[in-house]
Amino acid sequence: NYQKIGIIGAMQEEITPLLSLFPTHTAQAMGGNVYYEIPYKNATLYVAYSKIGKVHSAMTATTMIAHFGCEAIIFGGVAGALNKDLKIGDILIATKLCQHDVDISAFGHPLGFIPEGKLFIESSKILNGIASLVAQEYGAQSAGTKEGILLKEGVIASGDEFVHNAEKKQWLIDTFGADAVEMEGASVAVVCDSFGVPFCVFRSISDSADGSADVSFDEFLDSSAKICAEFVKKMLDKI
Ligand code: SAH
Repeated sequence: NYQKIGIIGAMQEEITPLLSLFPTHTAQAMGGNVYYEIPYKNATLYVAYSKIGKVHSAMTATTMIAHFGCEAIIFGGVAGALNKDLKIGDILIATKLCQHDVDISAFGHPLGFIPEGKLFIESSKILNGIASLVAQEYGAQSAGTKEGILLKEGVIASGDEFVHNAEKKQWLIDTFGADAVEMEGASVAVVCDSFGVPFCVFRSISDSADGSADVSFDEFLDSSAKICAEFVKKMLDKI
């Protein structure tokens, strides 16, 4: 029962379909971002796109929590698939997230680990539970469509790099057991975990993080972002 819920995407394209589902909103600028305030049932939603990468997304999550007082954070966007079972448009709900570009292994630390931090940060079981409920209904609804939409739970690896080659992709699978790669989830996870705020990250697949990832990304960004927005809306109905 949250009074204030933050919803973050990385790129403008990722929040536009969501904002169009909530036509009544006001906007506040802060720290180079715009935060849209939306009255929703008995609560207030704060929606923003952070800009790409871990620094921006960490800043947006921090602002939502420390300034706007958000009590839960939902991150929705697109990602590259690492797991071969994930196809374009499928949704992955992150059970835990890591930063794949952190490397102080020179001092004997595991890749992705920062002292006093955690290699993997777990997302909220409650929010994930709500997401799975939506997933079941959404899955049932889409079962009749030609392609169908798959919803999976798995590991997300985040880093400040658009991954578009087979070698790096395999390294992420081998090193972190990751199912999808993107550039913001783990930093949002660090912020939320530090503040004790429940969060969930889910991603609609836009590409396969391989040699054709850039072309695929451009082609599927809008449709995958739309799938995500509808998913968030359905989640909000149950929160
Ligand atoms: N086309 C954009 C850049 C997109 S960067 C531009 O020119 O401005 C990719 C964005 O989508 C990031 O926000 C990231 O979180 C996500 N993403 C999708 N596929 C990805 C991949 N293969 N590797 C890393 N991030 C990916």
